[in-house]
Amino acid sequence: KSINDSYGHEMGDKALQVVSKFLTETVREGDTVTRQGGDEFQIIVADDAQLGTTMALAQKILAGLRKELVIDEQQITVTSSIGIAVSLTDGDSFEELVRNGDTALFRAKEIGRDNYAFFTERMDAEIRDKLAIQGQLRGAIARDEFEVHYQPQMCLKTGAMVGAEALLRWDNAVLGKVPPNRFIPLAEEYGLVNSIGEWVLESVVAQMKVWHDQGLGDIKVAVNLAAGQFANDATVPYVESTLRKFGVPAEFLGLEITEGTVMGDPNKAVAALRRLKDIGVSISLDDFGTGYSSLSYLKRFPIDVLKIDKSFVDDVTTNSADAAIALSVISLAHNLNMRVIAEGVETREQVQFLTERGCDEMQGYYFSRPVNADAFTALLRE
Ligand code: C2E
Ligand code: CA
Ligand code: CA
Ligand code: CA
Repeated sequence: KSINDSYGHEMGDKALQVVSKFLTETVREGDTVTRQGGDEFQIIVADDAQLGTTMALAQKILAGLRKELVIDEQQITVTSSIGIAVSLTDGDSFEELVRNGDTALFRAKEIGRDNYAFFTERMDAEIRDKLAIQGQLRGAIARDEFEVHYQPQMCLKTGAMVGAEALLRWDNAVLGKVPPNRFIPLAEEYGLVNSIGEWVLESVVAQMKVWHDQGLGDIKVAVNLAAGQFANDATVPYVESTLRKFGVPAEFLGLEITEGTVMGDPNKAVAALRRLKDIGVSISLDDFGTGYSSLSYLKRFPIDVLKIDKSFVDDVTTNSADAAIALSVISLAHNLNMRVIAEGVETREQVQFLTERGCDEMQGYYFSRPVNADAFTALLRE
């Protein structure tokens, strides 16, 4: 779209004619070249072109113009920059498409001239967002910005609270409250998930010790494990040493994993889970049914509890497919000598439905939202 000589000067008419000729000869049949004004050209690539064709064309133009042009027996070197907007995704109208092509052109120049760039407004925003989270996440433990919340898990037979899930909360001065779904994957990406995971485990076990000392400790607390923690050989020893350090019996600790958590290296994960189980920690398989090879994992992994994912619970009373899935998970678990817990339970109808069908435990806003340690202590005293 934009051509300058190597000093950044705009080019004279003769040079533009040479460039214009080159472009016209270089594009495919069916494509059109127009001069947009100044030294900017617009190429409309025929709409049967694949992305790859367009990228190849961009490269061809960059390479072709990078050569020395001979104008009036004078050699000049030019560089060009290309912005690409794709009609289906980047603009509803032609005007918008051109505007977005200009944005991409700006970006191409930013990267350094002699480049092409696709329009990626969303990507740009996302990258900025990610960088901000990454920047803040590094110091979050040191600034004491994390807090663990606890959500009750209820036994349906007795109606008693038998457990809790520990859920991490992050309140940052710059970014505000960032949900764990957002920052945990980024922590994985940036290699911060092990230190965060260790912080969570230590806070939870320390809190359990407090509850035990107050005679309130008769519940199992489940901590979520991230994939990166399984890849780390230090995780299992860390769990053991943390329990020892606070003198909390392993039977009171649960760990929640997903298929994603163990997928990276299933053999290693099996070994790690066996060791955890040997010392008395119980394992729940979270988000069950939302991943890929659930059944083979069930066979290989020492799992104590299956969690019926919230997405099946939401419409369990009105959608027959969801109901069928929930029922299958319940009978599958029971046949494999596992317990079943439903998550995301919000209504009385869901409680009734799942209770009648033999679900063992439940967790959800119907009973309580996740609350901080003080509020949870009050629930334990009730
Ligand atoms: P998850 O393990 O599936 O946790 C359940 C999520 O459902 C939690 O969201 C919880 O607050 C929410 N929830 C529970 N009951 C209900 C309900 O009745 N209705 C609705 N709408 N939501 C309900 P949260 O706390 O935002 O956590 C999201 C995810 O972040 C978790 O999904 C888990 O994958 C991850 N996460 C949270 N804390 C940790 C942590 O300490 N370590 C790791 N590795 N991941 C964590
Ligand atoms: Ca220019
Ligand atoms: Ca969980
Ligand atoms: Ca879940």
